[in-house]
Parts: sequence; C-alpha cells; structure tokens
Amino acid sequence: MPNRLTILGSSSALPTSARFPSAQVLEMLGRYFLIDCGEGTQIQLRRSKLPFAKISAVFISHMHGDHFYGIFGVIASFAMLGRKNPLVIYAPPELEEIYTHHAKVLREELPYPLKFVHTKQSKLPYLIYEDKAVEVYAFQLRHRAPSTGFLFKEKPKLLPLRKGIHIEMKLSIKEIAGLRQGMDITRGDGSILLCSELTVQPKKLSSFAYCSDTAYCPEISEIVKDVDLLYHEATFPNEMAARARETMHSTASQAAEIAKKANASKLVIGHFSARFHDVSIFLRQAKAVFPETMIADDLRYFDF
Ligand SMILES: [Zn+2]
Repeated sequence: MPNRLTILGSSSALPTSARFPSAQVLEMLGRYFLIDCGEGTQIQLRRSKLPFAKISAVFISHMHGDHFYGIFGVIASFAMLGRKNPLVIYAPPELEEIYTHHAKVLREELPYPLKFVHTKQSKLPYLIYEDKAVEVYAFQLRHRAPSTGFLFKEKPKLLPLRKGIHIEMKLSIKEIAGLRQGMDITRGDGSILLCSELTVQPKKLSSFAYCSDTAYCPEISEIVKDVDLLYHEATFPNEMAARARETMHSTASQAAEIAKKANASKLVIGHFSARFHDVSIFLRQAKAVFPETMIADDLRYFDF
C-alpha cells in the first residue's frame, strides 16, 4: 500500500463553493493523521470515505480560523460515534485554552482521552511525534501568527539478514545486531563485513512535509530536503507578490522554488486565495520553476 495524502480543503481564509478551508489526511503505514482542520472538515471526511475513527492524531499549524475552526465538530463527532481510543492534538497552546473553555461552557464530556501537545517556535526541527514506524518533526514557518510545519517520515527498520548468511559467515550476536542496524563491521582479523552485501536492502523510506501558511522562507528547503511529497501553500499568483509579502503568504513560484531547492520529488500547492475560481495560473507559474507540481483540489489524493 502506498502512502496517501487526501486533500479535504484547499482554499485560503474564505471557503468557496468548490473549496473548503485547509485540511488534509495523511495515511502513512496504516496510520491516519489529520493535518489542519478548517471549518467543515468532518463533512469532507465523510465525503472522502476515509476511516474517520482511525485518525489517531491531529496536527494544527497555527491559530488562524481557517486552519482550526473544524476541530470542535470533529472532537464532538468522535464522542457521538462512541470513540474509546485516545486522540492527541498537536497544536499551539492557545488551542487547548480555547477548547477547555468551549468544553466548560458546553459541559462537553468525552468518552475518550483527549490530550493536547503544544507546538513551539523553533528554528531547528524537533521531534514531536514518534511511534514504532513513523516520526514527525515540527519546524517554524514565517507567518503573522506563530506557524508550524510538519515533516512526516517513515522510520528505518532493522534490516533482515540474507538467508543463511549468519551460519556461512559465523556471525556473532553483536555483528548481527550491528549489520541489522545498517553498520559495516570490522572483524578482529581486519576483514570488513559489508551491510550492503549481507542484508536485504530496504525500499527507500517515504516522507511528506506540510508547509502551511508562510511567507517565502528558503531555510525550509534544508529541513524538508529530499522529501517525496511536499505540500506548500501558494495563496497568490506571482503578480500579487506584494500582497503575499504583506500578508506573509507565498506565491506559486515561491512554493515551487522551495520544492526545487529541497530536491523534493513532487509538490502539491494549495490554500488558494478565494478570488481565483480558475487556479490554472498557479499551476502554470509553479510548473515553470518545478515541473512536478500538482494542484490541491478538494478530495483529490496523491500516492507516494
Ligand atoms: Zn494563516
């Protein structure tokens, strides 16, 4: 099964008749992560036929309404569906504050544990989520409100040894452990055991990066280097670069520039200004810089 990104909302601040505000679901190695949660996210989740109940974690980039107004409905619907599994929300501290007040006023009691983990502004990426097979790093973007990007990565697994090789080469337990962790081992007699020869090499580990609202920020490309799929906002076409600067958003070619500098395999652009019903201009401008660009349309998905 490939990893899959499903777009639930691709508009910027104002929803349009064709586009909901920001939200997407990343399916990675059987896990389901909700990333940003604009108004109407649960409607789009229903339409997408994604397994609603399997979402284990939510990542919210920043405290602008078009990125989190939907979370209250999602939390309440999980309760109505009798959810028992814990839900963890990674978000700026203010979201917990708002939710706590909201739950108090509504006397909302949940049948499942809900936990908030606060994001922080950090120039260096930091590990915010980890399980057996996936890790997520958070990093600072450049926006009017503190905004966080997320890098999702498959974790390296222990490599299986080639069949019978441990007997043939009389490998010790220590040598086996080192080889399986990807190391070459120098033996007492000076000979070298090459990991690449003695183990079954894994397929390339997949990664996805989400760069929500941000002004052009070339440092991002170092953090998301060699990512398989990059989502980067492109709120405005190039002609509106001044407006993009003023509102701390990116243009189509700036998003493409980040993908190019990062050596990404593919780029998805979204968060289009609501004044553009036809977004082909964004695609044209981005493709001129980075040909492997695709448009985020609501309910469109991308395998990687
Ligand atoms: Zn914003």
